[in-house]
Parts: sequence; C-alpha cells; structure tokens
Amino acid sequence: MSELAYPYEAPASQALFDRAAAVTPGGVNSPVRAFRAVGGTPRFMVSGTGPYLTDADGREYVDLVCSWGPMILGHSHPEVIAAVQDAVSRGTSFGTPGEGEVALAEEMTARVAPLEQVRLVSSGTEATMSAIRLARGFTRRTKVIKFAGCYHGHVDSLLAAAGSGVATFALPDTPGVTGAQAGDTIVLPYNDLDAVREAFRAHPGEVACVITEASPGNMGVVPPAEGFNQGLKDLCAEHGALYVSDEVMTGFRTSRAGWFGVDGVVPDLMTFGKVMGGGFPAAAFGGRADVMAHLAPAGPVYQAGTLSGNPVATAAGLAQLRLLDDAAYAKVDAVSKEIQGLVTDALTKEGVAHRLQSASNMFSVFFTDRPVRNYEDAKAQESFRFTAFFHSLLGAGVYLPPSSFESWFVSTAHDERAVQRIADALPAAARAAAEATA
Ligand SMILES: *Cc1c(COP(=O)(O)O)cnc(C)c1O
Repeated sequence: MSELAYPYEAPASQALFDRAAAVTPGGVNSPVRAFRAVGGTPRFMVSGTGPYLTDADGREYVDLVCSWGPMILGHSHPEVIAAVQDAVSRGTSFGTPGEGEVALAEEMTARVAPLEQVRLVSSGTEATMSAIRLARGFTRRTKVIKFAGCYHGHVDSLLAAAGSGVATFALPDTPGVTGAQAGDTIVLPYNDLDAVREAFRAHPGEVACVITEASPGNMGVVPPAEGFNQGLKDLCAEHGALYVSDEVMTGFRTSRAGWFGVDGVVPDLMTFGKVMGGGFPAAAFGGRADVMAHLAPAGPVYQAGTLSGNPVATAAGLAQLRLLDDAAYAKVDAVSKEIQGLVTDALTKEGVAHRLQSASNMFSVFFTDRPVRNYEDAKAQESFRFTAFFHSLLGAGVYLPPSSFESWFVSTAHDERAVQRIADALPAAARAAAEATA
C-alpha cells in the first residue's frame, strides 16, 4: 500500500453516499458518520485488518476510531474471527438460554468486582435505558441526575444536553422527546459536586439515581476531577439514590476492569457495551445483586430482548475479553502515549493552542489553551482548527473521529508502521490547523 498523501476525492464513497441518501435519512445509520461536523464525503469502508481500514476507493487508513472503541484488538483479529466462525457454524440465534452468555457474564463479573450480576442486551442505549428503569423501580423515585456533555445513548430521558453526535449537531433538546420524558431529568455541569449537592437538597427523596460516564469521552476526553466520582457515590449513598456508572465506552478499555479498575469507586449499577461485544451488538447492565434481583423474571421490573445474549455476539465478546490480558492493556496504553506525544509535539511546533486530554488510553485534542473540565469548556474550543487538522490527516491516510467532541481510540494492532504513518502526516496537519480561519 502507498504511504503517500492521498487525494481528497473519494468517488466510490461519494457514489455510495448518493445512493444511501436516497434510501436513508442523511445517508447514514448513525449521525456522526455523515461528516457534517467536518464536511466532505464520508468514507464508506469495505474492510479492516489490524490498525487499518480500506475504503470503497481502495485507499487505506490508519484507524483511530476503532468502531468508536470496540475494536481494541484491531480489525479482523484471527482468534476473534475464529470464535465467530465456530459460533456461526452452530446456528445464529435460538431464543433460548445458551452457554456463551453464561461464560461472558462470568468473565465480566470476574473482572469487575462491583458487578455481582449482569443482564445482557444488544446496545449501550438499551443498557442505560434499562439501568434507569431498574433504578427507578428499585428506589420508587422518579428523578435522574445526569451531566451536560455526557452521552448515554439515545434514551429519551437522557437526551438532554448530551454530548457525542448531539454535541456535533448542537441540538440542545431533540424534537420527539416530550416534556414529560425530559422533565424528570436534572442536567448539571460536569465535575461540579456542589451542583449535585444542591440538586439533592432541592429534590429531597425524589432522586432515583445519578448517571455519569465513568470517565467522559463523548464531549472529547474530560476525565473526572480527583474525588468527583467518589463524591457522587457518597452523595447518592447519603440520599438513598443509586450511583450508576456508564462504562459503555470505558468498560474493558481503560483497564482490565474498565474505569472501576482505575479509580476503584464502587457503583450500585454499571452499564457496558462497545469492547464487550468484540465488534458485535452486545451490551449489558449490572451491579448489586440485591438491586438486580428486582429485574424480571426474578422481580417486577420488566426488561427483555429477542437477540439478548446472542450466541455469535457473545462468542466474539468472550474471545476478545479473554485476549485482553495485562500485556494487551500495556500495549494499548503505550501506543496511545506515543501517539499523544506525537500530536502534542506537532501542534506545539506550529504554535497551535491546544489541550491534549487523556484518560488511560483514551485521548482527544481540544483546540483551546484552557483546561477542559466540562461541556461549556469543550464547546469553547476553536473547532474550525479541528476541521482543517482532520482533513489533512484524512488525505494522508489517517482516520480520526469526524468531530472534535469524540475520543480517539487505538488498539493492540497499532504497530510501528501505523504509528509512523501518523508521525509522517502530523506536521502538515498541524500546519493546516495553525493556518485555519473560522
Ligand atoms: C456509545 C455509548 C453509549 C451508547 O451505546 P450504543 O451501543 O451506541 O447504543 C452509551 N453510553 C456511553 C458512555 C457511550 O459511549
């Protein structure tokens, strides 16, 4: 494959995008994929191997999105593919219990101490939606506290001041979510314990749970301040609310035990997705056994799914988790640090004001000279510089998340050759960011 800069045109992707736009709103099945934040033609990918993606025009990219996190072993990992092929050969869905889902639940609970029981679902959205329902059913309270810039999937009640694609499109409230659905949601600034204390004071006995990204990655990477998560947990305990840690992004990525493995704060409920599915639709919620006992059929809170615990998805997830040992995390952390250093050096050399923020091996760049502690700070960045930076890298065969409000992801497959391509592409991208105008 060529290591040279690629032209910007992508005729095969454009033709597919035109076809897609005729049959799908905006031409995509998830908004951020449409490149609206950065402009240009979204690349339609046809294959992935290790750290590389190949698009419909036959161009190869070093992938720094990794399917938004799941592909932590790189694309088409031979052992994951073998596990999938083995599962597929025995049938793809039975609508009955099966051993694969038991084994996956055992692997997850063995890694994450507060996870006493789990229920498998098919998407992170379903996981957070179900965790909120369970928290309300368990506490018999209605209100939910969430933080501006935290994204928990497109759950109606959680789409107030969400990050991710919602940030990109600057939709503060999406049409279709009723006042009643959003009315029980209290949105507070991230990293502000006083605001949480005040909300509990203002709504005595009404708050079912606080839900937070364990370490936010959907407004760019904005880690919790020292003591913030523990403070949330303590306030919840004091006021009889549940502390729900959304680890859909961080789970099994930021360490063997996800963000819990980093900060050790014990949640009442947790949600998972992304890495645990090995590139398939598998997600989960779980936590305290006494809370989970309220879930049907053990208890009265209803929750179900035709494809929950799907044998192919659970085989992929289990194979991936079993390969994720300490050595694998050390490798992902090391390559992440290396790329972070390259990005900072290139931008510094061109005098571009920026903040590179990281949480374990997740990281992102904000084009601002001030620390980013919450969504307001994140929105104050010069996003037009990201657009120039993004397109320069894309043209040179490096695929970044197409928005400045997203984490970058790496994998165990990102080797020296892949890192070298990024290193070669960065000086021109940093120059483009420096020269960009609003
Ligand atoms: C991706 C994500 C979700 C939603 O997961 P889907 O599988 O896209 O529904 C929820 N919470 C967090 C923190 C996420 O990053």
